[in-house]
Order: sequence, then C-alpha cells, then structure tokens
Amino acid sequence: MAKNGTYDAVVIGSGLGSLTAAALLSRAGKRVAVVERNSSLGGAASCYRTGQLTIEASLHETADPHDPRDLKHAILNHLGLLDKIDWVPITNLHTVIGGPVGEPLELGHGFEAIGDQLSERFPAQASGVRRLLERMEQTYTTAGALNAAGETHSLSKLLFSATESWPIARDWQLSLDEALQRDLGNCEGAKCALAANLAYYADDPRKTWWLFFAVAQGGYFGSGGVFIRGGSTRLSRALAKVVKQSGGDVFLGRRATDIEIDDTGRPAGVHHAGPNGEASDRLATQTVLAGCAPSMLAELLPEAKRDTLLAPYRGLTPSISLFCAHFGMKQQPANLGLKGYSTILLPDWMTSLNDYAAAADLLAAAPAGRLPPLTVVNYGALDNGLDDDGHILVTVAGVDHIQNWSGLSKDEERARRDAWLDAILATLDERYPGFAEAVDERVFVTARSTRDYLATPGGAIYGFAPEPPTSSILSGIPRSPRTPIPGLFLASSYGGSGGFTGAMGAGAQAARLVL
Ligand SMILES: Cc1cc2nc3c(=O)[nH]c(=O)nc-3n(C[C@H](O)[C@H](O)[C@H](O)COP(=O)(O)OP(=O)(O)OC[C@H]3O[C@@H](n4cnc5c(N)ncnc54)[C@H](O)[C@@H]3O)c2cc1C
Repeated sequence: MAKNGTYDAVVIGSGLGSLTAAALLSRAGKRVAVVERNSSLGGAASCYRTGQLTIEASLHETADPHDPRDLKHAILNHLGLLDKIDWVPITNLHTVIGGPVGEPLELGHGFEAIGDQLSERFPAQASGVRRLLERMEQTYTTAGALNAAGETHSLSKLLFSATESWPIARDWQLSLDEALQRDLGNCEGAKCALAANLAYYADDPRKTWWLFFAVAQGGYFGSGGVFIRGGSTRLSRALAKVVKQSGGDVFLGRRATDIEIDDTGRPAGVHHAGPNGEASDRLATQTVLAGCAPSMLAELLPEAKRDTLLAPYRGLTPSISLFCAHFGMKQQPANLGLKGYSTILLPDWMTSLNDYAAAADLLAAAPAGRLPPLTVVNYGALDNGLDDDGHILVTVAGVDHIQNWSGLSKDEERARRDAWLDAILATLDERYPGFAEAVDERVFVTARSTRDYLATPGGAIYGFAPEPPTSSILSGIPRSPRTPIPGLFLASSYGGSGGFTGAMGAGAQAARLVL
C-alpha cells in the first residue's frame, strides 16, 4: 500500500484516543491516515500472546456505555459501534479485603446498593456515606448532561446542566482526600472501601482531583462495569475498520519521525519510517492529531516550535504507571476460592487511604515483606472470549513508577521481576491454597515495559496526573486537545483524561475541534 499521499488529517498513534478521533473524522467525510509505530493496533487497548496465554494488556473494566451518562455512549452510538461490540457485564464492582477494611467487603453496582453495603459495614458513617454518594451521583449526572449538551448543542440541556452544576462549582478545587474527609471524617475503613481501586486513576488522594474521581468512579458505581468479549483489541479493530471503510488508511509498524510546519505556522506533512531505518515516507496534510505525550510530540517538531508547543504543559506531571503480574491458570480460580472478577487486597501496613502514595516505591527493591495494594482480576469469572487455549488469565496489578527500574542490568531486572512474581504468588497462595500449584505461565510487566511499548513518558498510562486545578472554574476544564500550534491537536489521554472513557472522550473532543 502506498505510504505517501494527501490526507485531510494524519493521526499519530493508534491508542483509543487517536482511533476515536480518526473514526469520527472519517465518518464526517474526511480522508484520514493513522500511523502506528507498533505492529499491532490499539496502544494500551490491545491483547497479546505469550506462551499459551492471551493477555489482555489493559482492560479490567470500563463504565457501561449503554448508559447515556457515560461519555462513550454518544461516540459509539454515532459510529454505529455500540451494539457491534459485545460488552460483558461485570456483576459486582469489587471485593475489598484487608488494610483498614479488614474482612471481605463486596460492593455491587448502583449508588443505592453501594450505599447500603457501606452503611451496613460502617454504621457510624451511614449518613456521611449517603451524602458522599449523593454528591458523586450529582457530579456524574451533571458531567454527562454537560457532555450531551456539547454533543448536540442543545440549549435546553445546557441550561438544565448549568442550574444543576452547582456541586461542580462548589467543589472545583477539592482533592479526593478533602472530599472524603468532609463526609467520612477519619473513618479510613469507609474511605478505603470506597476508593480501594484508586490505582485506576492515581496513587495519592491528596493530589487527586475530587471532581475527576467523582465522574470516573461515579461511572462504575452508577452505570456498572463491563469487559469487552474477545478483549480490548476488538474495540480498537472496530474503530480502525471505520477509518478503512471510509477510504482512510491505517499504517502499522510506522513511526512518525517529523512534522513539517509551513510558513503560516500550520502542519504541512508528517514523515514516518519503519522500525529498521527504511527510507522515510511523507503524508501531506494540514491537520495532525497526536496520540503521544506533548513531550514526545515536541521532538517531532522543528526546534523553533518546541517551546511554543510545550508552554501550556509545563508543571504538569505524567500520571502513574502500573505493574501487572499475569498468571496463566490450569484450573478455574473459583475452585480455589477466588470467586469474584475483581478483588482488591489491601496490605496490613496500610492504615489510611493516603498510605496508597507509599506503594509504588516498594518496587524499587526486591520484596521485603511489604506488598503494595493489589488488584486481582480473575478473567475466568466472565465469558471473556479471550483465546486462552484452556488457560485462565488472572492479572494482579498495582502502582509502579519508572525510577524503580532504572539503572538495573538485564539480569538484575529479571531477578527483581521474578522476586515480585514469587512474592505476589505466595500471597495469593496463602489466601487461596493451591493457587501457586495451578499456575503454569507467568509474566511480569513493569512501568519500564509499558514505557517502551507505548512510548509514553515514565510509562504513564492515564496521560497527565488528575491533580486538582490551580485555576478558577472560570478558566474552564484544565485539559484540552487544542495545542498552541494551529492545526495540531492532542488525541489521547493527554488531551483530556485517562482510561478507556477518558481517552475516547479526548479523541472525540479533538475531532470536534478539527471539524
Ligand atoms: C495495565 C493497564 C491497565 C489498565 N486498566 C484499565 C481499565 O481497567 N480501565 C480503563 O478504562 N483504563 C485502563 N487502563 C488505561 C487505558 O488503557 C489508557 O488510559 C488508554 O487506553 C490510553 O489511550 P491513549 O489514546 O491515551 O493512548 P495509548 O494507549 O498510550 O496509545 C498511544 C499510541 O501511540 C503510539 N505512538 C506514540 N508515539 C508514536 C509515534 N511517534 N509514531 C507512531 N505511533 C506512536 C504508541 O505506540 C501507542 O500505540 C489501563 C492501562 C494499563 C497499561
């Protein structure tokens, strides 16, 4: 296929943000090219094979897009994909065990049900729990209405949202820690139960934006969680198919190397090359949407433009990364006592939710008794559709950062990975006897592997860290796909927020700005 040509837009990367933008622009009649450096589609939203196991690289759960309040709803509906993807409902949100929560506490879905379950376990906090969940639901519903108003340009919806949006204005600069303290006081058990899955977003409640958490976690609480049957690759492929069916091109194994800027200051073309230094090709375009971080994007620009691009992002921190211990099981984990889909094991050293912030540093050395909070995902609990050759995937994820893996030789790194696999396996075996015996494939993925695969700074997986804004509400939402270079947009988590929903929302917003 010709890798030269003229396009209305060139999209760098095939993460969910880029593919969403590319599909929406294609549907709007634009000729689009997607250029991805890896040989497979989807960035984090992909699956890969190792030994006899198919590993889902990232999707644990996403909020159910059938709910119109979910940001993905309108996008998927518009693209005709809502009912083409097989969304497998996850019956319960998660079970939290240990730390300040103690005995297993199972949370379901729905604000009401979660309120009942938390109030039963923490009766002294019952009214605080209700108040907090009410605020979350209001925030989630208002964010959904504001988004719908933006999509449809509906004045009545916008006015409705404006009158309903006082909780957003009131809590504009609040951190998660402050919001939880306001309603739950010092009850760390209730806080940890409510935000046990903090690693879905960040690792320090004092630096996590309450409104972001309320919308994202509100999505799981209010709409329920789903997995994609066959893995997240299905969604990535479906989006790429829209591009191809509309006459666009998707080039895999091609790294964008340079963006030309013309005399008017707009892009004029994108150069891209294969992994083995093949001659570079050029795609002519005046519009570029980038799926990479601004710091990586700057390197593709002429030197004179780099500072201009980076100015709005100075002072922003990349998000956390995760480690994943993937285990291939010879038998159903449920037979060994691991029954649910999602179980969060909080360590005994954790006495408050804020202790989460100390977890990532633990991986800077071999395990020495202390484990970080672990999210255990048992894919065997779902009709997951992964090509598993009779193996069942169990993934254990936790917070990690790149410094943990710097300065190590290959052998030292391998030894550290093995030691962490052993320590995690020993913990699972203690709780679910026979677990270690049933494992016959194991892989450890670190912040470093993630950085190398996604080309994201420090292995960040959610774009910029979702910190509370320092500017007032009058300055608006602190992230946008718009960059200071006309014709150049961010179509990834970096242009909005992270996760499947956040990345797709940012891609959709980027496409809207282009159109
Ligand atoms: C282990 C893990 C678990 C997760 N769990 C969940 C979950 O349960 N639920 C959820 O909602 N989210 C989850 N996430 C987060 C979610 O997957 C991501 O936030 C989201 O998919 C990021 O999408 P993105 O568009 O920002 O780009 P990315 O997925 O980061 O993709 C960027 C793409 O751009 C390409 N690229 C970069 N530079 C270039 C270049 N110069 N030329 C060509 N291509 C380039 C990269 O190769 C990559 O393919 C998880 C992530 C991980 C890693």
